[in-house]
Amino acid sequence: MDDRKLQDEAGRLLALHRYCALDSTNEPNFDTITSLVRDLLGVPICAVSLIDEDEQRFKSIQGAEIAGTPREVAFCDHTIRTHGPLVVSDAEQDERFADNPLVTGEMHVRAYAGTPLTTPDGYNLGALCAIHRRRHDFTPGDIELLKRFARVVVDQMELKTLAHRDFLTGALTRRAFTEASVKALGQLKREERSATIAVIDVDHFKKINDAHGHPVGDKVLKSISTRINGQLRSSDLFGRLGGEEFGMLLYATTRTEALNCAERMRAAIEALREGDNPPATISIGLAHVDPSRSIEDALAEADAALYEAKRSGRNRVVCAGQMNHSVAA
Ligand code: GH3
Ligand code: MG
Ligand code: MG
Repeated sequence: MDDRKLQDEAGRLLALHRYCALDSTNEPNFDTITSLVRDLLGVPICAVSLIDEDEQRFKSIQGAEIAGTPREVAFCDHTIRTHGPLVVSDAEQDERFADNPLVTGEMHVRAYAGTPLTTPDGYNLGALCAIHRRRHDFTPGDIELLKRFARVVVDQMELKTLAHRDFLTGALTRRAFTEASVKALGQLKREERSATIAVIDVDHFKKINDAHGHPVGDKVLKSISTRINGQLRSSDLFGRLGGEEFGMLLYATTRTEALNCAERMRAAIEALREGDNPPATISIGLAHVDPSRSIEDALAEADAALYEAKRSGRNRVVCAGQMNHSVAA
């Protein structure tokens, strides 16, 4: 397992936002799991906890009427800093937790067992935990069960993200892309960094459809989006805005870095040959996003730059605010 991912809090929060961009606070699907774990382990409280920047949110909790806690008192915040599990038989005797308000207050947590909810790319989003109100020794069997159910929770979260993805290309839907971008901008603001938004459009795509048929057009769209997505970092976002048009959010990227990145993508698509697919090119409009701006404004500006790229000949990158094109040879 990758220890660097345990240290990468910014990456962890972005992963959390990718999974939760469109979620409501409570998740009924998880109630089945938390009540099963509660019965199987014979504990009064079981919860699926997600650790956000400043708070712990319970996506499902049995045995307590509480939606969340500040992050600094969360036992699960200790769990996610390890590959887990975290087991505490008697919190009153544990110097990390003895004066924790969840222990001293009316929640009266005394024993805790939690296993991290680890995404396939290695980030701990939160924990599945079991809690006793009296001293308790969890057995190895209890912990094994918690681990297995934690995997089921992550699988369900993964499945939910499928609903946020476009079926043909696997890119985020327009709505999911926009909402995840808004969250990413919020985080950038806190980090005092900025990003670049790109709008990508396939050139003369109608001609490709007309000449080769719609199914071939579909294959071209799929291979273009796979290629672009393959060049992005896990902190970037990629969505299908509609038809043959895609959006990218290049996280914490300067104008020059974004221009270089977009130019590499343009050249990669121009050079792309896959099976019998006909060649295709893309045009890209870029807009630098100061996180205090709205995502809609930035998309409109990138759109205007894209229009300029089309107008001036296609197969090129144009950055809004500076007519600094990178032009295909
Ligand atoms: P331009 O360079 O100006 O962008 O020209 P264009 O032909 O790409 O643009 P236009 O908007 O005229 O045509 C876009 C075409 O994309 C028309 C539409 O049928 C096709 N299209 C949209 N979605 C899909 C899809 O999912 N699959 C396929 N095969 N074609 C699609
Ligand atoms: Mg087009
Ligand atoms: Mg178009």
